[in-house]
Amino acid sequence: MGRLRSPSSGDRCWALWSLPRPALVHVLAVDLAAVLVAAVTAVTAATAPRPVPAGAWTAFAVLAACAALYLHCSRLVERVGRDHGHPPHVDLCSIWLLAGALVLPPVLVVAHVVLIYLHRWWFVGRWDASRPPHRSVFTTSMMVLAALAASAVANATGLRGRLLAGRPHDLPDLAGLVGAGAAHWLVNTVLVATVILLTARDRSVRDAVGSASDNLLEAGQLALGVFVAPAVAWSPAFAPPMVAAAAALHRTVLIHQLEPAARTDTKTGLLNAGEWRRRAALELRRARRRPTGGLAVLMVDVDHFKKINDTHGHPTGDRVLRRIAGALEGAVRRGDAVGRYGGEEFAVLLPGVRRAEALAVAERMRVEVHRVRVDAGDGGDGGAVAGPTVSIGVALWPEVDEDTPDGLLAAADAALYEAKRRGRDQVRAADGRAPLTPAARVEGSGVDGPGA
Ligand code: GH3
Ligand code: MG
Ligand code: MG
Repeated sequence: MGRLRSPSSGDRCWALWSLPRPALVHVLAVDLAAVLVAAVTAVTAATAPRPVPAGAWTAFAVLAACAALYLHCSRLVERVGRDHGHPPHVDLCSIWLLAGALVLPPVLVVAHVVLIYLHRWWFVGRWDASRPPHRSVFTTSMMVLAALAASAVANATGLRGRLLAGRPHDLPDLAGLVGAGAAHWLVNTVLVATVILLTARDRSVRDAVGSASDNLLEAGQLALGVFVAPAVAWSPAFAPPMVAAAAALHRTVLIHQLEPAARTDTKTGLLNAGEWRRRAALELRRARRRPTGGLAVLMVDVDHFKKINDTHGHPTGDRVLRRIAGALEGAVRRGDAVGRYGGEEFAVLLPGVRRAEALAVAERMRVEVHRVRVDAGDGGDGGAVAGPTVSIGVALWPEVDEDTPDGLLAAADAALYEAKRRGRDQVRAADGRAPLTPAARVEGSGVDGPGA
């Protein structure tokens, strides 16, 4: 399909029978509708008085070859993403799909969609365990319906006939092109959004319809399809150069998608250490320019985390880390930066704060982390991790005599060490003063044993 979002981003592998019943009914209904419409189209073509003209077969062959070439190029481009541990999910097939819908007779429109997605499945999706075959079937069905909707508009407005005859009418045909593209977009969007909303009830309609940039990309593909259509109708040799444009666009989109991944820690979704340091340097420069500027760096370390791993296993330890990351992020304002600095260590940047505010945020983090509870049931021992604790060191600029992100981190780390030394589960400032008396100290690791 031409859209970037997937019906289950987050839980990629939606097994057909595990879908909620309304989503399952929707998916099967779309599949069935596509099969019925395709069958009616085939029967209509077989019983039509005039056979499919030779020119239509040429256009079909050229478009199918362009799509195949694009899919091969896209595989090479996607390798860049896979090297970065990024699952491939950019697909710009709408260029060829819309072009086909505008110039081919309906029976070849269906054959064209099926051929493209068969090809795509064989070369791209077959080895991808996160894409079960029924998902490819659903995508193909959806695109058959979308392409036939665009084809119906092209037919009804007389656009197809005039395109093939080489006699387009500027304004009426512009309306026909926009209408066909809109029909393609509408059918695709409504069918994808419905499956998303029926599968994940917590997603909003806006979320399901896709971001502005997803939809802009879709509109861009349809616009390119509008240029491919007359090219293939009038002079098929003019269509293949568009493969280079599609591959270049694909690469640009992929790189755009990789940018956030390069800044993010994959396990927790927080900033990675490099990006955190970059932000810290930026904020420090800003703070120096502000006469009243202040800035705090917090170093957070989970207490006795090794014991959590040893008791419940690493996978549970990972889940605890993710929940702790969420608790830390929940305690800061927009504009603050929370990063994963090392294994179970986190660095937090609070721009524009003074001592009291920074210590209050650190204390809020300590309390929020203590609320974390993770079932360790599937780890095999049936226990739970309840109320993990953290120690936090706070360095305040300009109060500490450090002027670089690394210097501030070292000062926060020294304060953290002091918090550990004094018994853990507490906040300590770099100037050595204990800021607050922890309200609810938890002795030990915060680990409940099996059955807790
Ligand atoms: P302390 O209170 O002194 O900080 O004790 P600790 O056990 O937390 O500290 P220590 O440095 O001895 O152990 C850190 C543990 O964190 C050891 C390591 O296996 C674990 N760890 C580091 N990264 C990860 C990770 O990504 N996932 C999991 N599950 N464990 C991790
Ligand atoms: Mg630790
Ligand atoms: Mg540590």
